[in-house]
Amino acid sequence: MKSLVCMKVAPKVDQIKFDEVKKTIVREGVENEINEADKNALEAALSLKETHGGTVTVISMGPPSFEPYLRLAVSMGADDAILLSDRAFAAADTFATSRVLAQAIKKVGLFDLVFCGEASSDGSTEQVPSSIAEWLGVPQITYANNIKIEDSKVVGRRVITGGYEIIESQLPVLVSVELGANTPRFPDFRRKRWADKEFKLTVWNIQDLGLNPNDVGLLGSYTIVKELKSLPAPARKGEFVTGSPQEIAKKLAQVIKASA
Ligand SMILES: Cc1cc2nc3c(=O)[nH]c(=O)nc-3n(C[C@H](O)[C@H](O)[C@H](O)COP(=O)(O)OP(=O)(O)OC[C@H]3O[C@@H](n4cnc5c(N)ncnc54)[C@H](O)[C@@H]3O)c2cc1C
Repeated sequence: MKSLVCMKVAPKVDQIKFDEVKKTIVREGVENEINEADKNALEAALSLKETHGGTVTVISMGPPSFEPYLRLAVSMGADDAILLSDRAFAAADTFATSRVLAQAIKKVGLFDLVFCGEASSDGSTEQVPSSIAEWLGVPQITYANNIKIEDSKVVGRRVITGGYEIIESQLPVLVSVELGANTPRFPDFRRKRWADKEFKLTVWNIQDLGLNPNDVGLLGSYTIVKELKSLPAPARKGEFVTGSPQEIAKKLAQVIKASA
């Protein structure tokens, strides 16, 4: 089973800020972390490897400062890690991001599964996984949890309103993993030492991927952020209901009836 995991490094959720003038996410001077859903994607890939064998390779597009996060993924159990890094890739929207990731996946060669998280914590468009599947021409199972291989098919479960769906696909397939679908493992501390000091990270730039500068980064992006708006959280209506249990029940029944 050859799995690839697309792993985004994003600003820590409580540090996400926007540059009102440039209309971009502020990436300087903030602490980063592995996107939470991508840890679930990595865990799904590692669990399948434990059962069915094979390899897990992590791929991330971002600046050289993301290197430690790829090493962290290796210390969690990934066999290999590739950083896609080039100034030309900067300020990419989902179209350009998915194009670069798909090109890297094609360069890796034959694969069985591509895993993504269901969404990033910063851009959070949820468009990259489906877009990668389209670039690669493979089927997709999105928002999946409980991913299994049965009779050479991938079976994923996904929650829908009022129940769940079971989706089956032949390999190769792209799977986007639901946030919280599993409990990501901790890094193995002996492996961490090796991952930090000896593991040789692969870094590919635009030439390595054979891409045209007009097709990547800002130049290859179709999305323009025209306006940024902060929306205040809706005010919460709260009311304390007091009295005896019978009085409280009566008042609650009135409130429920009035809002029904
Ligand atoms: C207002 C605004 C301004 C922005 N400005 C900038 C900017 O200036 N510079 C900039 O770089 N970005 C910027 N972005 C973010 C950028 O557009 C997206 O983060 C990027 O294209 C990926 O889309 P997403 O985060 O919505 O991914 P989603 O589709 O939500 O991500 C789903 C999954 O796709 C995979 N994935 C996504 N991105 C990557 C990646 N880079 N590497 C590996 N896997 C990945 C992961 O598995 C992830 O869980 C901005 C976003 C917004 C909303």
